[in-house]
Amino acid sequence: MAVEGIEGTDVPTTTEQVPLVLVVDDDPIMRNLIVQAVAKEGYRVMQADNGAECLTLFREHAPDLVLLDAVMPVMDGFACCSQLQNITPTTALTNEHVVEFVTPDSTEESEDEYEFQEKTPVLMITGLDDDESVDRAFDAGASDYVTKPIHWKVLRRRVNRIIQQSHLHKNLEKANAELNRLASTDSLTQLANRKRFDEYFTQQWNLMHRLDKEISLILCDIDFFKQFNDTYGHQGGDRCLRVVAAAIAKQVHRPSDLVARYGGEEFAVILPNCGAKDAADIALKICQRIESLEMEHKGSEVSDFVTLSIGVAGCLPAMGQDYQDLIGLADRGLYSAKEGGKNGVYLAYDEHEPCLQISSG
Ligand SMILES: [Mg+2]
Repeated sequence: MAVEGIEGTDVPTTTEQVPLVLVVDDDPIMRNLIVQAVAKEGYRVMQADNGAECLTLFREHAPDLVLLDAVMPVMDGFACCSQLQNITPTTALTNEHVVEFVTPDSTEESEDEYEFQEKTPVLMITGLDDDESVDRAFDAGASDYVTKPIHWKVLRRRVNRIIQQSHLHKNLEKANAELNRLASTDSLTQLANRKRFDEYFTQQWNLMHRLDKEISLILCDIDFFKQFNDTYGHQGGDRCLRVVAAAIAKQVHRPSDLVARYGGEEFAVILPNCGAKDAADIALKICQRIESLEMEHKGSEVSDFVTLSIGVAGCLPAMGQDYQDLIGLADRGLYSAKEGGKNGVYLAYDEHEPCLQISSG
C-alpha cells in the first residue's frame, strides 16, 4: 500500500532521513485514523491490513517502527511480532554495518563484536488491557503498547519517543563503530595497528587451535630505513611507509588475513588456516613486489631501491603455546634475513634449526 504524504512538519525533507512507520490493522477505519495521526507527526507511513503483508513490507522497506494491532484474523499481532524479531530487512544492511577487519570465512565462528544490527521497535496496539495481553506483547518482543480505544495524545508521544530513542541509539552505535575503527587503525598507513594485531592474533590463534588448523605469520622490515629517513627526511620516510603498507596489503587476498603495522618500519601479516609454505610464497611475492616498485633508496647498501627483509613462520597451535611463540619464530626468520644480506625471505620452522632461505636479492 502507498506511503502517505507528509503534512505540516519540521522533520528533514529528504525521504532518506524521514523515519518510516508501518501501520498494521485489519480494521480499515481504525487503520486510517492511525495513519493520519502518524503522518501528522511528520513521519512517512506505510500500511498493511494483515500480518503476512506486514512481514513482506517489513522485509522490503525496513521501517523504523511498526504499529501493530494485536487482534487480527489469520495471523494475530503477537504471532506477527514474534516473527518480526527474526527478520533482517534486506534494505537495512547498509555499509555502515559491515565489519571492517573481522570478515569470517566459512570455517570461522561468528564474532559479533563489531555487529550492530538493531531490532526494529514494535508498538503493539491492543484492545485488551489485561495483564496477560501486556505480558504476551512484551514476550513477543514488543517495545511498548497502547490500548484501544486509542488515547491519541498517548499514541503520538509513544511513537515520537520510540523513534527518537531508536535514532539516538543508531547514532551512538555509529559513533562507537567509528571509535572502534580509529582505535584499531594505524593513522599513517591505515593498516591495523599493534593493538588490533594482538587482539586478532589471539582470537585467530585460539580459533585455529580449536579447528586444528595451521596459522602463519609474516614479519617484514624495511632495509636501512634509518638511512632512508636520513636521506629523504621524515616526510619522505612517511611516504615510503604508506607505499610499502599499501603494496603489502595488495598481495594479501583472503578476508580473514590481517595486515598490520607492527612497529616503526615493521609490518606483519597474520594468515589463519595457512601453512608455512604458502605463507612463504606470499612473503616472496611481497618481497619481489616492493623491489619492483623501484622506490629510490640512496642510503641502502644492498640495492638502489627500497627492499624488505622478511621472516616467515607457521605452525599448528598446540596446547601450552601462545601466539607469542610464533612471533618469536618469525622474528628468528627476520633476523636471519637481515644477517643473510637483506632483501630476502627466510622461513623459520624450528627454534633450534637454522632458518631456510627462500630467496635473496
Ligand atoms: Mg483488529
